[in-house]
Amino acid sequence: TQQILLARRPQGAPVPEDFRFVETELPEPEYGEVIVAHRFLSLDPYQRGRMDDAKSYSAPVALGAVMECQAVGQVAASRDGRFQEGDWVLGGFGWQSHSVRPAHALIPIDPTEASPSTALGVLGMPGLTAWVGLEDIGQPKAGEMLVVSAASGAVGQVVGQLGRIRGAKVVGIAGGAAKCAYVKDTLGFDAAIDHRGDLDAQLDAACPGGIDVYWENVGGAVQAAVFPRLNEFGRMVMCGVIAQYNTASGLAAHGAPPGPNLGPVVRKRLRIQGFIVSDNGWKRYGQFRAEMLDHIKAGRMQYREDVAMGLANAPAAFIGMLEGRNFGKQVVALD
Ligand code: NDP
Repeated sequence: TQQILLARRPQGAPVPEDFRFVETELPEPEYGEVIVAHRFLSLDPYQRGRMDDAKSYSAPVALGAVMECQAVGQVAASRDGRFQEGDWVLGGFGWQSHSVRPAHALIPIDPTEASPSTALGVLGMPGLTAWVGLEDIGQPKAGEMLVVSAASGAVGQVVGQLGRIRGAKVVGIAGGAAKCAYVKDTLGFDAAIDHRGDLDAQLDAACPGGIDVYWENVGGAVQAAVFPRLNEFGRMVMCGVIAQYNTASGLAAHGAPPGPNLGPVVRKRLRIQGFIVSDNGWKRYGQFRAEMLDHIKAGRMQYREDVAMGLANAPAAFIGMLEGRNFGKQVVALD
């Protein structure tokens, strides 16, 4: 099996030398286990956090260990009655081409309902994140203004479309003209804003009545521009701050950067809440999936994937995602 190991902990932005490509012998499956041939790996921003040896909601990847990720694959050999060769499955398989897994740790996937890679994106963890965060925290109402950052990405594209389905006005913030055109024309957002341009002027034009819900995927300069525009009783869904992931160790060393003045939280009765999808999201996966499949079949939910080819390209694709080079949900396709 081919594997990508974490060779050292990145200092700031990850570089190719932080990873090592190796080939190892696959162990023989025991009774109750299956061999999975991985087809699509999921690259997600949280994996940057797993590369640091810092306190977090889950343990870091050990040095020399396979980088972790969710993946979909097909059963290549089975020693368990529940699975047959060719079955599609989802699991935490890591950045590697094959693995031996206990059958009870596999989630079966129906490839006739949607293409299997969607189990990593619109119908998987990022889609569920969007759905849970809107249901529990954002709760946009008809006519309210919802702004979402990293709007063309795996989470952002679903947040905006679910907001539109709820009747909210939706403005997406994305990097560059192509992503903005996609957000507006294909995803059907009311407006798209390029964060490489003048954020204040574009926000004033797109949100003249202020902002009721801000979905935060980015942090940094985008957050600083959006925050003062929140209306009374506004909600700020703290999903992620990807602009800050490569600087966490730097921040610890040099002190936090100046952030927005949080004083108006009181006067405006704002609600700012963070969440992690794995807290209680998967308990509601069935309801989420049924609703999302309905939306997809009815043409209300578009999605876009960015497919890197081959395991050896996983580090470069991951590094690129942190720089905004992905356009849509980043996956890696394996042979
Ligand atoms: P995306 O598919 O959105 O990819 C990341 C995108 O972030 C890039 O394409 C880029 O888009 C944008 N970005 C990167 N750096 C910057 C920057 N400096 N300034 C502005 N934008 C930047 O990733 P996901 O949808 O998978 O994740 C989005 C966010 O959601 C992340 O913060 C992630 O950590 C978080 N998340 C949180 C979960 C939770 O449970 N709380 C679960 C899943 C994800 P562009 O080119 O448009 O700038």
